[in-house]
Amino acid sequence: MANIAFIGLGNMGGPMAANLVKAGHKVQGFDLVQASKDAAKADGVSIAASAADAVKNAEIVVTMLPAGKHVLSVWTELVPLVGKNTLMIDCSTIDVESARHAHAHAKEHNLPSVDAPVSGGTVGAKNATLTFMAGGDAKAFADAKPILENMGKKIVHCGEAGAGQAAKICNNMILAISMIGVSEAFALGEKLGLSHQALFDVASTSSGQCWSLTTYCPVPGPVPTSPANNDYKPGFAAALMLKDLRLSQEAAKSAGAATPLGAHAESIYDAFEKAGHGGVDFSGIIKHVRHLAK
Ligand code: NAD
Repeated sequence: MANIAFIGLGNMGGPMAANLVKAGHKVQGFDLVQASKDAAKADGVSIAASAADAVKNAEIVVTMLPAGKHVLSVWTELVPLVGKNTLMIDCSTIDVESARHAHAHAKEHNLPSVDAPVSGGTVGAKNATLTFMAGGDAKAFADAKPILENMGKKIVHCGEAGAGQAAKICNNMILAISMIGVSEAFALGEKLGLSHQALFDVASTSSGQCWSLTTYCPVPGPVPTSPANNDYKPGFAAALMLKDLRLSQEAAKSAGAATPLGAHAESIYDAFEKAGHGGVDFSGIIKHVRHLAK
């Protein structure tokens, strides 16, 4: 069992740290928000006075923070402080450039490092069923894998530094585009007098089949567990989807890739958020799509 420092005990990090405790590790945590620290403490995480205190004696440091600037600032502070060979793992969703900078920073201090963003949301974080997509060299990945397995059920090595973040934003760009596509199909079906169930029964067993339809159906009824049946409570909030789309578009720009539908999806989610719906599940975009016709 390992000494693990966990920095960022929010909606995702809190339950992830709790699962490391459950697996038998000694976890020292830190967050800026008192309520997050209190909740983690109740789950068996020892709360340190600062991030620097949390990493004393740590063999592994995990960060789960909002964005690239937070990860770079925390890693810049901690990397020079930690012991030799301490494994640095960042599970936040951040831009590929910042992830590569964080890796480079660790490398300057001869520390192994992995970017390992997740898919699966707060439910996956709580139930230890997250998917991790990891970037880093083979040895660092091999060392990180058993730790990630305590918090998730599928761990994929995507390639070198930053490859985990690249896979994450590509996946979520597909998801945003497919959710808008499914929403447009239901909105058109409604205008054509087609019932939701009839369209679902056909598309879910035809070539229109996809996760946005069969697991996260944006209309109530056909998939009882989808957020549409719960007043579009997240789930995965539209604001987080917009964040990931922005990351995909930044990456597309800097890599010189053409992603016209990704760009359009970003503008659609941007309008949805500006209309005050950032806290709605991202499948609520169907309301925006319907509204466009009026
Ligand atoms: P959150 O805002 O609930 O948690 C982030 C935590 O980081 C906060 O508690 C904040 O106080 C803390 N923090 C910020 N700066 C800090 C610092 N310098 N030192 C210590 N703590 C600091 O966010 P979340 O929902 O837990 O998401 C975390 C990351 O996971 C994000 O990058 C997000 O995009 C990604 N993610 C979230 C979900 C989801 O469904 N919530 C799903 C997949 C990925």
